Amino acid sequence: MAKQRMQQCLTCGAFSLKTTCPLCGERAQAAAPLKWSPEDHRAALRRQMNGVEEAEWPSKLATLPSLEDMKAQAPAEEE
Ligand SMILES: [Zn+2]
Repeated sequence: MAKQRMQQCLTCGAFSLKTTCPLCGERAQAAAPLKWSPEDHRAALRRQMNGVEEAEWPSKLATLPSLEDMKAQAPAEEE
């Protein structure tokens, strides 16, 4: 057994200690998040995984509606 950490199947969500799902045979990966360190050894890997350095990443972030939209909605909600 390669890893002793709890693994979770990426397809069906089943938990096991193996990197191959015992139920569906698909790939499983570590169920727990990476250990946090103030030195952040895996920062580059994490940014790559989340696509932070791609040009379209900022457009995927959650945004508030424009101020005009919020002002337009406010009187209707108060009454
Ligand atoms: Zn599975």
